[in-house]
Order: sequence, then C-alpha cells, then structure tokens
Amino acid sequence: FSVFISDIEISRAQTPKPVDQLAAEIGVLPEELEAYGRSKAKVQLSLLDRLHTQPDGKYVLVAGITPTPLGEGKSTVTIGLVQALSAHLKLNSFACLRQPSQGPTFGVKGGAAGGGYAQVIPMEEFNLHLTGDIHAITAANNLVAAAIDARMLHEATQSDKALFNRLVPSVNGVRRFSPIQISRLNRLGINKTDPASLTPQEVSTFVRLDLDPSKITWQRVVDTNDRFLRKITVGQASTEKGMIRETGFDIAVASEIMAILALADSLEDMKNRLARMVVGTSRSGQPITAEDLGVSGALAVLMKDAIKPTMMQTLEGTPVFVHAGPFANIAHGNSSVLADKLALKLVGRNGFVVTEAGFGADIGMEKFFNIKCRASGLRPNVVVLVATVRALKMHGGGPNVSAGAPLPREYIDENLSLVAGGCRSNLRKQIQIAHLFGVPVVVALNVFKTDTQAEIDLVCQLAKECGASDAVPCHHWAQGGRGSLELAQAVNEATSRPSNFQFLYNIEMPIVEKIRTIAQKVYGADDIELSPEAEAKIDYYNQQGYGSLPICMAKTHLSLSHMPDKKGAPTGFTLPIRDVRASIGAGFIFPLVGTMSTMPGLPTRPCFYDIDLDPVTEEITGLF
Ligand code: ADP
Repeated sequence: FSVFISDIEISRAQTPKPVDQLAAEIGVLPEELEAYGRSKAKVQLSLLDRLHTQPDGKYVLVAGITPTPLGEGKSTVTIGLVQALSAHLKLNSFACLRQPSQGPTFGVKGGAAGGGYAQVIPMEEFNLHLTGDIHAITAANNLVAAAIDARMLHEATQSDKALFNRLVPSVNGVRRFSPIQISRLNRLGINKTDPASLTPQEVSTFVRLDLDPSKITWQRVVDTNDRFLRKITVGQASTEKGMIRETGFDIAVASEIMAILALADSLEDMKNRLARMVVGTSRSGQPITAEDLGVSGALAVLMKDAIKPTMMQTLEGTPVFVHAGPFANIAHGNSSVLADKLALKLVGRNGFVVTEAGFGADIGMEKFFNIKCRASGLRPNVVVLVATVRALKMHGGGPNVSAGAPLPREYIDENLSLVAGGCRSNLRKQIQIAHLFGVPVVVALNVFKTDTQAEIDLVCQLAKECGASDAVPCHHWAQGGRGSLELAQAVNEATSRPSNFQFLYNIEMPIVEKIRTIAQKVYGADDIELSPEAEAKIDYYNQQGYGSLPICMAKTHLSLSHMPDKKGAPTGFTLPIRDVRASIGAGFIFPLVGTMSTMPGLPTRPCFYDIDLDPVTEEITGLF
C-alpha cells in the first residue's frame, strides 16, 4: 500500500453485517441474543446449557515472545488467523479478545481492535464504551469502597445496640437476618437465626467489622490514566467527623472485580467470588470480605449483564467475543473463561477458538495455563507464538526501542546476526516455556514492510530448530485473512497432533515453592529472594487457609527477568519478591517483583490530541 490508510479508515470502509444476521449464521438463537445497537450484542449464558452435549472445538492460544514497548501484533495475528480459518478455509472459528481500557486508548498505546486488515469492527465501538462492562465494574468496585468508609464511620459513632437495630431492622415488630447476614454469622461460628437470641458479646462481634484503617487494601477505580489519583486523602468534610485517611485510585481494569469477571464460569460462581473478596483486615487480624460489608448481592446485581460476552465481527465478517480485560501484571491478563466456553461450543468439534494472552509467553501464557485453565478446566491444543523481526533484533543485541521515537537503523536495514541472536535466546526460551506445559508451538512471524526475505526465512528456519512444530510468516496486517492462510494451515495441522497438557506446579505445593518453580523454570532465575514483608504475608495467607491458590506474578513484561533492560534470555539472577498480595475472590496470590503501577499516567502529548468528532457526519477520527 503506497498510500497510508489508517486503522479507523479501513474499519469504516467496511459495513458490518447486522449482528442478528451474524448470530443466525453461527447458530445463536434470536432469544439468546441481546442487541446493543446494530453491530454488537450480548450472548446469554443459557446457550451453554442448550449446547451442553455439543463437543468443544479446538482451543488455540496466541502468546508472544518478550515484546518491545510497541507491541508485536498478537491481536492482529489472532484476528488474521480467524479470518483465514473462517473466511478462507471455511472452518468455523471464533476469536476471543479482551476489552480495552480507555486508559491506553486516550493515553499512549491506542486501542486494541487489531490493525490494518486484521481488525474487529466497528473499531470505535470496540475501543470505547462497548456494552458498558467496564462501567459496571467501576460502579461495583466503588460501591464497595463507599461501603467501607461509611461502615467505619457508623461503627465509630454508634453503640453495639444502635448498630444492631439499624443493621437488623424491625419490620412489623419482627427482626430478621438477611441471607447475607446469616452467611456472615455462620462464618463467625454463631449458628443462630433468631436475632433476639444473640448474646451481647455475639451482637458486638456481629455488628463490628472493626476494620483497621491502615490495613484496607481496597482502592477506588476510574478508567482514565489519572496519575494524580494515585494517592488521595478522603473524609475531609466536617460531616465525616475527622475520619480522614489516605487511599488511592487504580485504573478500572486493575480492579479485582475485572479479574473475577474473567475467571467466573457461571453467575453463581461470580456471585460467590464477589462475596469472598477481601477488602482489608480487622484490628484483630481477621480478613473482612464484601459479604461482611453486606454488599455482595448488590455487586452481583450490578454485574449481571457484564457476565454475558459481547459478540462483534472481524473485517471479514467472522465472529468475535470481546469480554473482560484484566491487567496482565497484578491480574492474569486473559479474556474471559465464559467467552472461550461459549465459543468452543458454538464452533463445534472441527472448529477453532483462538484466544489471546497478554504480554510475553512468560507472563500471559504462564497465567493462562496455571490460572485460567485451572479455573475453566479447558485444555489448549496449540500455542501460536507471535514474533517480529524487530523484537528478535532487540533480543539479539539491538539498541533500545521506545514508543514515539523513530526506530534505529538496525531495525530498518537487514541484519541477520541480530535476528539469529534473538531467535537463539528469547524465541528459543519462550518455545521451551510452552513445552513445559506439553503443548505444541507454531511460531507466527508477523511481517512488517521493512523485513527482508532473508530475515523472514532465517526466523522460520531457526524457530523450527528451536523446537517449534512449524514457523510461518504472516501478512494479515497488509492482506487480511488471505495473508494468514499458511498460519491457518499450520495451526490446523498442529491440532491434529496430541497435546499432553500438564500444569507447571501442583496447587497444594507451599506458596514459596510455587513462586520458586515459576522463577526458575519459566524466567530462568537461579533462585528467589523474599523480603521480610513478603515472608510475613505468606505466613499470614497460610494461616488464613489461602495456601492452595495459584500464583499470579506481577513482573515486568519487557524482560524474562525482573530487569526490563535485560533482553534475550537472561541467566544468573535472583528474582526479588518485594511483597506478596492476594485476590481471594479472583482466587490467586500475587507476588510483586519490583514496583507495579496500577494507575498509569498521561504523556505530554496523549493520543487524545488526535481524536476528534465531525458534528455533521458524526465521524470519529484519530482512534487507532
Ligand atoms: P499486541 O496485541 O501484541 O499488543 P497489536 O496487535 O495491538 O499488538 O499491535 C500493536 C500495533 O502494531 C497496532 O497498532 C497494530 O496495528 C500495529 N501492527 C501490528 N502488526 C503490524 C504489521 N505487520 N505492520 C504494521 N503495523 C502492525
């Protein structure tokens, strides 16, 4: 293409087919569809019951080598692959993608609808509000935050008796506990259902959560890169009676509720997970949950539509589910279990579901296997590992690459020795990581226009020497599905071979051993080093009975190690574990390796400078 055509122009040039037509084509019944406008619709979970006996399709995970800060095109490869499978090879296929946050859309990275001729359309709807799931998460998260501060105020200003009378009001002269309150009483070991029978001591235990303000872990969220909210002080109005405390905001997609949405496998499971979320600890060191706050039922109500995946389409009219988008560092960075399950039923035995894991394979893929597959019970057939010549050159010793700056010469001119260095280090290691789980790997080289034929041939040859079942160049960005035909054939071929999937660690192993296994086997570390805080937290989690949860490492995605500037496949390092936290509702322990920002900031010239609306035609410009 000699004239540059932007992603949004490509998207707009193609009229999406009506979503009810798409639904009819893939076997979704009209009563299972909830349309939001003409081109997107939520799909009801009842479809899982209707297709209960239908065999699942083949399950393909798209992961990547350690990326440059520019992204290596996993989303475009995912979309190019389903376009090739469905529109060209006539095999049923579905792509499952994460919903992007508005932080990157208006900040630095831009949207996540893919790009070029491998996109989800309409891309502006994909990148903006979609069907409101992130707004629902924000509302639910902030209801919990409001409940925490209000409860602390009420406990500070009222006697046990006054609190009891308000929490268990008398209706027509009778007091009754709500189901949520009975559940809390049971957990406290007070097995009574008649409010009048509680002793004064039991009343006090029941009404006082006694949250320790310095041990509240729940933060407020907003879906904007608003760095000035990282640390705030709340409660400064005189009406709050001096109950001032420091807290902060995270970006909405870093909320535990987002991770729960991605891992839940039914409405009931989501409700239980929401109830189990721990918001802080009491002064006596007991974990306090959303259920203790009495808010868990309301959270399920706020999230009841968000749990249904949203269906859209690719540029070539093939189906896509967009659902959930948890942060890939403090959470697991994968789209939802439910979207994958629905899609696997819809494509049927000979079809394909292609789902994407965030960041490099050492992070997104490891968490996909150890956390998401454990939660879903699903087993992948093949991993597509995305590589680019530019990222391989960086791992082979090329200079640093940064977003917004022009690419150094090495990345524009042919340089076979840098490419070979990257293949023999990072690519080899990432292939080996997939093999630890017993899953075959197809390497997809996402071709950029500066790549030379000799470079492309070298990557494909070395990838196979490093253990990939196959390695093929992909031209989907410039050509759409037709440019990914070779990949589609390679994936089809690889799924006919047996996959001997296994988890990396036994869930019952001690927390420290699980962390050490990931550090040594996946990252290539010699060992781990725990800070005293990390050790104390691990002891506490063991005491509370959280020892058998999987591990969700919070590590930089820019290196296999914890040091972002160490490229290739670093060795001879000890992985420092600074702190350890837990998301009990989502169901994982997350060790912090270095500092993780959960609220990004805006650059001097954010993407929003280029985003505009024509008030006459309602055309949006500048999204990418
Ligand atoms: P990831 O999912 O790995 O973060 P994306 O698929 O979002 O990466 O791609 C990152 C950016 O690079 C997008 O803007 C996309 O349009 C662009 N891109 C991807 N592949 C190519 C390609 N082959 N040529 C040019 N630009 C590309």
